[in-house]
Amino acid sequence: MDLEKRLSELTKKVYEKDIKECSNAQLYNCVLQLTKEEMADKPVISGSRKVYYISMEFLIGKLLSNNLINLKMYDEMEQVLAKYGKKLSDIEEAEPEPSLGNGGLGRLAACFLDSIATLGLPGDGIGLNYHYGLFKQVFRDRLQRAEKNDWIEENSWLNKTETSFTVAFGSRKVKSVLYDIDVVGYENGCNKLHLFDVETVDEDLVKEGIDFDKTAIEKNLTLFLYPDDSDEAGNLLRIYQEYFMVSNGAQLIVKELKERGCDLHRLNEYAAIQINDTHPTLVIPELIRILTWEEGFTIEDAVQVVSRTCAYTNHTILAEALEKWPLDYIERVVPQLVPIIKELSARVAKKYVDPKVQIIDKDKRVHMAHIDIHYGYSVNGVAAIHTDILKETELNHFYKLYPDKFNNKTNGITFRRWLLSCNKELADLLTDTIGDGYKKDAKELEKLLEKIDDTAVLDGIDKIKQQKKAALASYLKEKEGVVVDSSSVFDIQVKRLHEYKRQQMNALYIIHKYLEIKEGKKPVRPMTFIFGAKAAPAYVIAQDIIHLILVLSEIINKDPQVSPYMKVVMVENYNVSYAEKLIPACDISEQISLASKEASGTGNMKFMLNGAVTLGTSDGANVEIHELVGDENIYIFGEKSDTVIAHYAKADYISKDYYEKSPVIKKAVDFIVGPQAMAVGHKENLERLYKELLNKDWFMTLLDLEDYIKVKDQAFADYEDRTAWKKKMLVNIAKAGFFSSDRTIEEYNRDIWKLK
Ligand SMILES: *Cc1c(COP(=O)(O)O)cnc(C)c1O
Repeated sequence: MDLEKRLSELTKKVYEKDIKECSNAQLYNCVLQLTKEEMADKPVISGSRKVYYISMEFLIGKLLSNNLINLKMYDEMEQVLAKYGKKLSDIEEAEPEPSLGNGGLGRLAACFLDSIATLGLPGDGIGLNYHYGLFKQVFRDRLQRAEKNDWIEENSWLNKTETSFTVAFGSRKVKSVLYDIDVVGYENGCNKLHLFDVETVDEDLVKEGIDFDKTAIEKNLTLFLYPDDSDEAGNLLRIYQEYFMVSNGAQLIVKELKERGCDLHRLNEYAAIQINDTHPTLVIPELIRILTWEEGFTIEDAVQVVSRTCAYTNHTILAEALEKWPLDYIERVVPQLVPIIKELSARVAKKYVDPKVQIIDKDKRVHMAHIDIHYGYSVNGVAAIHTDILKETELNHFYKLYPDKFNNKTNGITFRRWLLSCNKELADLLTDTIGDGYKKDAKELEKLLEKIDDTAVLDGIDKIKQQKKAALASYLKEKEGVVVDSSSVFDIQVKRLHEYKRQQMNALYIIHKYLEIKEGKKPVRPMTFIFGAKAAPAYVIAQDIIHLILVLSEIINKDPQVSPYMKVVMVENYNVSYAEKLIPACDISEQISLASKEASGTGNMKFMLNGAVTLGTSDGANVEIHELVGDENIYIFGEKSDTVIAHYAKADYISKDYYEKSPVIKKAVDFIVGPQAMAVGHKENLERLYKELLNKDWFMTLLDLEDYIKVKDQAFADYEDRTAWKKKMLVNIAKAGFFSSDRTIEEYNRDIWKLK
């Protein structure tokens, strides 16, 4: 039956209405149901070895548009709806966005699932079904407030399954329930994202904001991703969640293998388990526990086979993110794993004396990454420079023991979401210009280079950028109540808020520009500075940086002398859907982390693919972007990673020296606690941030500020040579093919999973 007929029968059945009488929300529900039916008809991807991607986060975003694209149904659905005066893009707005992730790591997991299915590889995701996700950000009184993100509706992509396991926390037993989301590949079959939940979860536990009783495990286990862990109950809850995820995951894997008739002694021939960052590490001792306790394995056999099955991805060198749990906490949550962890630790201690590679340290803390490295068969970093730093510095002790385990897999993004879906106009222009082979083989984007002198193509790219900027401007007016000039330069920094990403450095540039304009030095073209970022609720300085940006936007946007030349917007509740609107509209992509600290970044790739030019440090994948596009098509500034690492080693960075040496820096920093800012903002927040910058500045903002100002000014000046800038846009798009997550997944498969 054709789509139009199916849809109209469905709206009649469900709402007793014709298509044209339905609201967008009603149509969303019907289109959702139709799309789910289509996906259920797709073959399940199968093979002899299957990968299980275990991750605390899957930042999947809205799914409707992507699923329709992958099913090749988008255009038809759009046409059917148009017949009845309905716009598919309006209907997409009715879909709630789950916040099952925090940032890049979770978004990467989502891109990977898309690419695994697109390449026709058997591979499922395993995670948790958080009812309220990370949190929803609202601004009140120029401060971030966290509220629950209530995303689960009666009709959703979740399919409740019959699968249920018992997870034992010592003698306390919790029953799980499994929800699946189908993951359909682009013109391919389906895999699944398995999200475990607890039946007894009690949403009423959450009263105000995101606070709740952390001790009632049966009621709270899957309420939030990363609940506040600044106290002991929060720490224990984190371990409860991690163990709940991996125990369910391990039981699911064993169940599936048994159903396939596999011999568990050859587990590694049938399954690969990719451990996304350290959170799922306990899957290693849990599998060993299941094999020894329930399947009669000797400990030696269990350790051997599990070690050949599990592989670990490291995402950061920030010490705070490498989990080290007190053994006592693990004892309280999952006592049954303690003898196994002790055994794993003892085996290491017997072989290696170096205290830096032990699993349980002298303070009785369990180093999760160390379990992964000793008892996994692969350790990968996520960009070339990051893997080098792991090998040479952070994990050097391990690299010396296991040089063959270490490998690099530079991150990627799915072009279905980050080009075909969010920038259909550009995708169509590319198809008209170079054919549509790039949709399956991203490297074909390089054909665009042949058009570098083709004015029609250059103007076409620029015209789409203008359209996207105009569309964003009207969205910002509606959502944020800010009017921005769509012929201004759009400079965008969107990513989690963290000092190492240095939103504060961008804010200091803005103060500097503001002061220049006040002195009569006006830019040739207006500038629009856009931020979007959530800050972890317990991260005080990050909250203060949000406050500063909101204060600046208030001062600047309301100053009649300055606002015609610059605007500052901090969008509320930055998420995947917002990213899809912001990224296609960007001229200058801010990727300004302190060199060595950003493992890869994936935002940088999305911007590049959509024709933005990167302004960044030599960090993460910026380094590889730089190599691909060349000096002419990127703006690189700041100290290199080896210099930064040396500063940390010698502890010789003193931010006050930079402040006192440079009148420009001093003026900008002083503005934070000057009368104008104080009149609009809160003394406590602004003073704390000011003191932090002067007395600590752990992520070395002032180290690079002068160079940043210089290079950023150059980028704005270069924007005025319109032809040259359009060529930069073209080169960035043409060279973005390397950053397709299809390429990344092909490499994971070639070097780690070996599925085909
Ligand atoms: C891509 C993405 C990120 C990661 O951005 P980085 O700049 O790499 O940190 C974070 N959040 C969302 C919503 C994203 O889409």
